Amino acid sequence: MTDRILDTFMELAAIESVSLEESGVAGYVMDAARACGFEPYMDKAGDVLGGNAGNIYIKIPALQIEAPPIMFCAHMDTVTPVKGVEPVIKGERVVSAAKTILGADCKAGVAAIIELMKMSSQGEIEHGPLELVLTVAEEKQLQGVRHLERKRIESRYAFVLDAEGPVGKIVNASPTQDNLLFVFKGKSAHSGVEPEKGINAIFGASWAISLMHLGRIDAETTANIGVISGGRAVNIVPDMVTVEGEVRSLDMGKLEKQRKSMVKAALEAEAAVGVGVEVKVERAYEGFQIDSQDALVQLGIEGGKAMGLKMEVQSSGGGSDANFLNTIGIKSVVLSIGAREPHTINESVKVKDLSKLARLCAEIANSAGRMRIS
Ligand SMILES: [Zn+2]
Repeated sequence: MTDRILDTFMELAAIESVSLEESGVAGYVMDAARACGFEPYMDKAGDVLGGNAGNIYIKIPALQIEAPPIMFCAHMDTVTPVKGVEPVIKGERVVSAAKTILGADCKAGVAAIIELMKMSSQGEIEHGPLELVLTVAEEKQLQGVRHLERKRIESRYAFVLDAEGPVGKIVNASPTQDNLLFVFKGKSAHSGVEPEKGINAIFGASWAISLMHLGRIDAETTANIGVISGGRAVNIVPDMVTVEGEVRSLDMGKLEKQRKSMVKAALEAEAAVGVGVEVKVERAYEGFQIDSQDALVQLGIEGGKAMGLKMEVQSSGGGSDANFLNTIGIKSVVLSIGAREPHTINESVKVKDLSKLARLCAEIANSAGRMRIS
Protein backbone atom coordinates (compact mmCIF):
# COMPACT_ATOMS: atom_id res chain seq x y z
CA MET A 1 0.00 0.00 0.00
CA THR A 2 2.88 2.40 0.81
CA ASP A 3 4.12 2.52 -2.78
CA ARG A 4 0.65 2.85 -4.22
CA ILE A 5 -0.39 5.77 -2.02
CA LEU A 6 3.03 7.37 -2.34
CA ASP A 7 2.64 7.34 -6.14
CA THR A 8 -0.82 8.84 -5.80
CA PHE A 9 0.44 11.55 -3.48
CA MET A 10 3.42 12.44 -5.69
CA GLU A 11 1.11 12.80 -8.70
CA LEU A 12 -1.42 14.87 -6.78
CA ALA A 13 1.19 17.15 -5.25
CA ALA A 14 2.61 17.92 -8.70
CA ILE A 15 -0.76 19.32 -9.82
CA GLU A 16 -1.15 22.98 -8.92
CA SER A 17 -4.54 23.63 -7.39
CA VAL A 18 -4.91 27.01 -5.75
CA SER A 19 -8.41 27.85 -4.52
CA LEU A 20 -10.96 28.07 -7.35
CA GLU A 21 -8.48 26.43 -9.77
CA GLU A 22 -8.88 22.85 -8.60
CA SER A 23 -9.88 21.29 -11.95
CA GLY A 24 -6.61 19.33 -12.34
CA VAL A 25 -6.92 17.63 -8.98
CA ALA A 26 -10.68 17.24 -9.40
CA GLY A 27 -10.13 15.46 -12.73
CA TYR A 28 -7.56 13.19 -11.12
CA VAL A 29 -10.01 12.26 -8.34
CA MET A 30 -12.90 11.66 -10.77
CA ASP A 31 -10.69 9.43 -12.97
CA ALA A 32 -9.49 7.48 -9.93
CA ALA A 33 -13.08 6.96 -8.77
CA ARG A 34 -14.22 5.73 -12.19
CA ALA A 35 -11.20 3.42 -12.46
CA CYS A 36 -12.35 1.86 -9.18
CA GLY A 37 -15.85 1.40 -10.59
CA PHE A 38 -17.55 4.22 -8.66
CA GLU A 39 -19.63 7.05 -10.04
CA PRO A 40 -18.36 10.44 -8.92
CA TYR A 41 -20.65 13.47 -9.00
CA MET A 42 -19.47 17.07 -9.23
CA ASP A 43 -21.75 19.87 -8.00
CA LYS A 44 -22.05 23.44 -9.26
CA ALA A 45 -19.98 25.13 -6.53
CA GLY A 46 -17.34 26.06 -9.11
CA ASP A 47 -19.88 27.93 -11.25
CA VAL A 48 -21.32 29.76 -8.26
CA LEU A 49 -17.90 30.76 -6.89
CA GLY A 50 -16.22 31.55 -10.18
CA GLY A 51 -13.92 28.55 -9.96
CA ASN A 52 -13.16 25.80 -12.48
CA ALA A 53 -14.33 22.79 -10.43
CA GLY A 54 -17.05 21.89 -7.95
CA ASN A 55 -17.21 19.68 -4.89
CA ILE A 56 -17.05 15.94 -5.62
CA TYR A 57 -19.20 13.21 -4.04
CA ILE A 58 -18.42 9.50 -4.26
CA LYS A 59 -20.56 6.84 -2.68
CA ILE A 60 -19.05 3.45 -1.91
CA PRO A 61 -21.50 0.70 -1.08
CA ALA A 62 -20.94 -1.43 2.02
CA LEU A 63 -18.54 -4.36 1.74
CA GLN A 64 -19.41 -7.23 4.12
CA ILE A 65 -20.32 -4.91 6.97
CA GLU A 66 -23.62 -3.48 8.08
CA ALA A 67 -23.26 0.00 9.51
CA PRO A 68 -24.63 3.51 9.14
CA PRO A 69 -22.87 5.57 6.43
CA ILE A 70 -19.69 7.41 7.40
CA MET A 71 -18.32 10.37 5.51
CA PHE A 72 -14.68 11.21 4.86
CA CYS A 73 -13.88 14.69 3.58
CA ALA A 74 -10.77 16.50 2.29
CA HIS A 75 -10.24 19.72 0.36
CA MET A 76 -8.63 19.86 -3.07
CA ASP A 77 -7.28 23.41 -3.02
CA THR A 78 -4.02 24.71 -1.57
CA VAL A 79 -2.62 28.05 -0.50
CA THR A 80 0.18 29.81 -2.42
CA PRO A 81 3.03 29.98 -3.39
CA VAL A 82 2.67 26.82 -5.41
CA LYS A 83 3.74 27.85 -8.94
CA GLY A 84 6.09 25.19 -10.31
CA VAL A 85 5.65 22.89 -7.30
CA GLU A 86 7.88 19.83 -7.51
CA PRO A 87 7.46 17.18 -4.83
CA VAL A 88 10.61 15.18 -4.04
CA ILE A 89 11.40 12.41 -1.57
CA LYS A 90 14.10 13.38 0.88
CA GLY A 91 14.92 10.68 3.41
CA GLU A 92 11.71 9.65 5.11
CA ARG A 93 9.77 12.72 3.98
CA VAL A 94 8.25 14.28 0.91
CA VAL A 95 9.18 17.95 0.55
CA SER A 96 8.97 20.51 -2.25
CA ALA A 97 12.12 21.07 -4.30
CA ALA A 98 11.51 24.68 -5.23
CA LYS A 99 10.48 27.61 -3.08
CA THR A 100 6.82 26.62 -2.94
CA ILE A 101 4.51 24.94 -0.48
CA LEU A 102 4.20 21.17 -0.91
CA GLY A 103 0.42 21.06 -0.64
CA ALA A 104 0.34 18.05 1.70
CA ASP A 105 -2.42 20.19 3.21
CA CYS A 106 -4.65 18.70 2.02
CA LYS A 107 -3.35 16.36 -0.68
CA ALA A 108 -2.28 13.86 1.97
CA GLY A 109 -6.00 13.72 2.78
CA VAL A 110 -7.04 13.48 -0.87
CA ALA A 111 -4.50 10.67 -1.41
CA ALA A 112 -5.89 8.78 1.60
CA ILE A 113 -9.42 9.06 0.19
CA ILE A 114 -8.27 7.74 -3.19
CA GLU A 115 -6.44 4.91 -1.44
CA LEU A 116 -9.65 4.10 0.44
CA MET A 117 -11.43 3.74 -2.92
CA LYS A 118 -8.67 1.47 -4.21
CA MET A 119 -8.66 -0.70 -1.09
CA SER A 120 -12.42 -1.07 -1.31
CA SER A 121 -12.51 -1.86 -5.03
CA GLN A 122 -9.77 -4.47 -4.59
CA GLY A 123 -11.66 -6.02 -1.69
CA GLU A 124 -8.73 -5.31 0.64
CA ILE A 125 -10.97 -3.99 3.42
CA GLU A 126 -14.40 -4.57 4.86
CA HIS A 127 -16.55 -1.57 5.62
CA GLY A 128 -20.05 -0.15 5.86
CA PRO A 129 -21.36 2.41 3.34
CA LEU A 130 -18.94 5.27 2.76
CA GLU A 131 -19.44 8.75 1.43
CA LEU A 132 -16.36 10.57 0.19
CA VAL A 133 -16.55 14.31 -0.28
CA LEU A 134 -13.78 16.42 -1.83
CA THR A 135 -14.31 20.15 -1.50
CA VAL A 136 -13.05 23.23 -3.31
CA ALA A 137 -11.98 26.61 -1.91
CA GLU A 138 -11.53 25.49 1.69
CA GLU A 139 -8.58 27.82 2.06
CA LYS A 140 -10.84 30.71 1.04
CA GLN A 141 -12.90 30.87 4.21
CA LEU A 142 -14.51 27.46 3.59
CA GLN A 143 -16.40 28.71 0.54
CA GLY A 144 -16.69 25.36 -1.23
CA VAL A 145 -18.24 23.36 1.59
CA ARG A 146 -20.88 26.06 2.04
CA HIS A 147 -22.22 25.15 -1.40
CA LEU A 148 -22.53 21.41 -0.78
CA GLU A 149 -25.72 19.80 -2.02
CA ARG A 150 -26.83 18.82 1.44
CA LYS A 151 -29.46 16.35 0.29
CA ARG A 152 -26.83 14.20 -1.38
CA ILE A 153 -25.23 13.37 1.93
CA GLU A 154 -26.79 10.70 4.11
CA SER A 155 -24.04 10.41 6.73
CA ARG A 156 -24.62 11.93 10.11
CA TYR A 157 -20.96 11.56 11.03
CA ALA A 158 -17.88 12.77 9.21
CA PHE A 159 -14.13 12.67 9.54
CA VAL A 160 -12.48 15.65 7.91
CA LEU A 161 -8.87 14.92 6.94
CA ASP A 162 -7.20 18.24 7.46
CA ALA A 163 -5.36 18.78 10.76
CA GLU A 164 -1.61 19.29 10.80
CA GLY A 165 0.79 17.01 12.64
CA PRO A 166 1.58 13.31 12.68
CA VAL A 167 -1.30 10.91 12.05
CA GLY A 168 -2.96 10.00 15.34
CA LYS A 169 -4.74 13.17 16.39
CA ILE A 170 -8.48 13.79 16.56
CA VAL A 171 -9.51 17.44 16.73
CA ASN A 172 -12.81 17.63 18.59
CA ALA A 173 -13.00 21.39 19.14
CA SER A 174 -12.26 24.38 16.96
CA PRO A 175 -12.82 28.09 17.54
CA THR A 176 -15.35 30.49 16.11
CA GLN A 177 -13.63 33.15 14.02
CA ASP A 178 -14.71 36.74 13.42
CA ASN A 179 -13.01 38.91 10.81
CA LEU A 180 -12.69 42.64 11.44
CA LEU A 181 -12.26 45.36 8.87
CA PHE A 182 -11.39 48.86 10.07
CA VAL A 183 -11.43 51.82 7.71
CA PHE A 184 -9.66 54.88 9.13
CA LYS A 185 -10.56 58.07 7.33
CA GLY A 186 -8.44 61.21 7.64
CA LYS A 187 -7.99 64.24 5.43
CA SER A 188 -5.35 64.68 2.77
CA ALA A 189 -3.08 67.74 2.57
CA HIS A 190 0.36 68.62 1.19
CA SER A 191 2.74 67.34 3.84
CA GLY A 192 5.32 70.08 3.25
CA VAL A 193 3.12 73.08 2.55
CA GLU A 194 0.14 72.76 4.90
CA PRO A 195 0.28 69.56 6.93
CA GLU A 196 -1.81 71.18 9.67
CA LYS A 197 -4.81 71.00 7.36
CA GLY A 198 -4.57 67.23 7.12
CA ILE A 199 -5.63 64.40 9.41
CA ASN A 200 -3.24 61.47 9.16
CA ALA A 201 -5.17 58.21 8.78
CA ILE A 202 -2.00 56.10 9.20
CA PHE A 203 -1.33 57.81 12.50
CA GLY A 204 -4.92 57.09 13.58
CA ALA A 205 -4.65 53.44 12.60
CA SER A 206 -1.33 53.08 14.43
CA TRP A 207 -2.82 54.69 17.51
CA ALA A 208 -5.68 52.19 17.49
CA ILE A 209 -3.47 49.15 16.86
CA SER A 210 -1.08 50.17 19.64
CA LEU A 211 -4.03 50.01 22.05
CA MET A 212 -5.05 46.50 20.94
CA HIS A 213 -4.13 43.37 22.82
CA LEU A 214 -3.03 40.92 20.10
CA GLY A 215 -1.51 37.46 19.75
CA ARG A 216 -2.42 34.80 22.29
CA ILE A 217 -5.04 36.29 24.59
CA ASP A 218 -5.63 33.13 26.68
CA ALA A 219 -5.63 29.36 26.19
CA GLU A 220 -8.84 29.57 24.14
CA THR A 221 -8.50 32.92 22.40
CA THR A 222 -6.21 34.54 19.82
CA ALA A 223 -6.28 37.85 17.94
CA ASN A 224 -4.36 39.24 14.99
CA ILE A 225 -4.00 42.27 12.76
CA GLY A 226 -2.85 40.78 9.47
CA VAL A 227 -3.22 43.32 6.67
CA ILE A 228 -2.77 47.07 6.58
CA SER A 229 -2.94 49.20 3.46
CA GLY A 230 -3.22 52.87 2.66
CA GLY A 231 -1.41 56.05 1.82
CA ARG A 232 -0.43 57.29 -1.63
CA ALA A 233 2.88 59.15 -1.44
CA VAL A 234 5.38 60.40 1.14
CA ASN A 235 4.37 64.00 0.47
CA ILE A 236 0.65 63.53 1.02
CA VAL A 237 -0.96 63.31 4.45
CA PRO A 238 -2.82 59.99 4.04
CA ASP A 239 -6.60 60.21 4.08
CA MET A 240 -7.45 56.52 4.23
CA VAL A 241 -6.09 53.30 5.70
CA THR A 242 -7.74 49.91 5.92
CA VAL A 243 -6.75 47.45 8.59
CA GLU A 244 -7.85 43.81 8.60
CA GLY A 245 -7.73 41.47 11.54
CA GLU A 246 -9.35 38.48 13.15
CA VAL A 247 -10.36 37.08 16.53
CA ARG A 248 -10.76 33.37 17.32
CA SER A 249 -11.98 31.69 20.46
CA LEU A 250 -13.38 28.40 21.65
CA ASP A 251 -15.53 30.43 24.07
CA MET A 252 -18.18 32.75 22.66
CA GLY A 253 -18.04 35.09 25.65
CA LYS A 254 -14.30 35.52 25.29
CA LEU A 255 -14.64 35.98 21.54
CA GLU A 256 -17.07 38.84 22.03
CA LYS A 257 -15.02 40.45 24.75
CA GLN A 258 -11.88 40.47 22.60
CA ARG A 259 -13.73 41.68 19.53
CA LYS A 260 -15.31 44.52 21.49
CA SER A 261 -11.96 45.57 22.94
CA MET A 262 -10.48 45.88 19.43
CA VAL A 263 -13.42 47.96 18.23
CA LYS A 264 -13.12 50.13 21.34
CA ALA A 265 -9.43 50.75 20.58
CA ALA A 266 -10.39 51.98 17.10
CA LEU A 267 -13.02 54.30 18.52
CA GLU A 268 -10.53 55.68 21.01
CA ALA A 269 -8.29 56.65 18.10
CA GLU A 270 -11.27 58.40 16.58
CA ALA A 271 -11.65 60.50 19.72
CA ALA A 272 -7.93 61.11 20.26
CA VAL A 273 -6.66 61.73 16.73
CA GLY A 274 -9.78 62.95 14.94
CA VAL A 275 -9.86 60.25 12.28
CA GLY A 276 -13.17 58.76 11.22
CA VAL A 277 -13.53 55.05 11.84
CA GLU A 278 -15.80 52.50 10.19
CA VAL A 279 -15.80 48.94 11.50
CA LYS A 280 -17.18 45.86 9.78
CA VAL A 281 -17.38 42.56 11.62
CA GLU A 282 -18.05 39.31 9.81
CA ARG A 283 -18.40 35.80 11.20
CA ALA A 284 -15.87 33.73 9.19
CA TYR A 285 -17.10 30.43 10.61
CA GLU A 286 -18.72 28.88 13.64
CA GLY A 287 -16.71 26.84 16.10
CA PHE A 288 -17.59 23.40 17.43
CA GLN A 289 -16.96 21.28 20.49
CA ILE A 290 -17.71 17.59 20.51
CA ASP A 291 -17.49 15.65 23.74
CA SER A 292 -14.57 13.26 23.82
CA GLN A 293 -17.02 10.55 24.94
CA ASP A 294 -19.16 11.11 21.86
CA ALA A 295 -19.58 8.08 19.59
CA LEU A 296 -17.85 9.89 16.72
CA VAL A 297 -14.69 10.54 18.72
CA GLN A 298 -14.84 7.02 20.13
CA LEU A 299 -15.06 5.65 16.60
CA GLY A 300 -11.87 7.50 15.70
CA ILE A 301 -10.15 6.12 18.81
CA GLU A 302 -11.37 2.61 18.00
CA GLY A 303 -10.03 2.87 14.43
CA GLY A 304 -6.63 3.85 15.77
CA LYS A 305 -6.66 1.05 18.33
CA ALA A 306 -7.30 -1.52 15.58
CA MET A 307 -3.92 -0.61 14.06
CA GLY A 308 -2.06 -0.13 17.34
CA LEU A 309 -2.24 3.66 17.21
CA LYS A 310 -3.08 5.58 20.37
CA MET A 311 -5.20 8.50 19.25
CA GLU A 312 -4.91 11.85 20.99
CA VAL A 313 -8.02 13.99 21.30
CA GLN A 314 -7.42 17.73 21.36
CA SER A 315 -8.71 21.13 20.36
CA SER A 316 -7.22 23.23 17.57
CA GLY A 317 -6.88 26.92 16.85
CA GLY A 318 -7.61 26.42 13.17
CA GLY A 319 -10.78 26.18 11.13
CA SER A 320 -11.66 23.56 8.53
CA ASP A 321 -14.61 22.18 6.57
CA ALA A 322 -15.66 20.51 9.84
CA ASN A 323 -16.65 23.91 11.22
CA PHE A 324 -19.31 24.27 8.56
CA LEU A 325 -20.35 20.60 8.41
CA ASN A 326 -21.17 20.75 12.12
CA THR A 327 -23.60 23.60 11.45
CA ILE A 328 -25.59 21.59 8.87
CA GLY A 329 -26.21 18.53 10.98
CA ILE A 330 -23.20 16.44 9.98
CA LYS A 331 -21.29 15.87 13.19
CA SER A 332 -17.63 16.19 12.29
CA VAL A 333 -14.18 15.90 13.82
CA VAL A 334 -10.84 16.46 12.13
CA LEU A 335 -8.04 13.92 11.75
CA SER A 336 -4.39 14.94 11.48
CA ILE A 337 -2.97 14.08 8.06
CA GLY A 338 0.79 14.08 8.62
CA ALA A 339 1.41 17.51 7.05
CA ARG A 340 4.10 19.42 8.93
CA GLU A 341 4.51 23.19 8.77
CA PRO A 342 1.58 23.60 6.36
CA HIS A 343 1.16 26.98 4.64
CA THR A 344 4.96 27.45 4.53
CA ILE A 345 7.67 26.55 2.03
CA ASN A 346 9.08 24.16 4.66
CA GLU A 347 5.97 21.99 4.45
CA SER A 348 6.59 18.23 4.44
CA VAL A 349 4.89 14.91 5.07
CA LYS A 350 6.38 11.62 6.20
CA VAL A 351 6.03 8.85 3.64
CA LYS A 352 4.90 6.54 6.45
CA ASP A 353 2.15 8.95 7.50
CA LEU A 354 0.55 8.76 4.05
CA SER A 355 -0.20 5.06 4.33
CA LYS A 356 -0.92 5.36 8.04
CA LEU A 357 -3.70 7.85 7.33
CA ALA A 358 -5.27 5.64 4.67
CA ARG A 359 -5.07 2.66 7.04
CA LEU A 360 -6.67 4.71 9.82
CA CYS A 361 -9.59 5.67 7.56
CA ALA A 362 -10.02 2.03 6.59
CA GLU A 363 -9.97 0.90 10.24
CA ILE A 364 -12.51 3.58 11.17
CA ALA A 365 -14.76 2.49 8.31
CA ASN A 366 -14.39 -1.07 9.52
CA SER A 367 -14.99 -0.23 13.19
CA ALA A 368 -18.25 1.55 12.34
CA GLY A 369 -19.87 -1.86 12.01
CA ARG A 370 -18.96 -2.85 15.55
CA MET A 371 -20.01 0.39 17.19
CA ARG A 372 -23.45 1.75 17.79
CA ILE A 373 -23.25 5.18 16.23
CA SER A 374 -26.70 5.60 14.73
ZN1 LIG B 1 -6.19 22.28 4.95
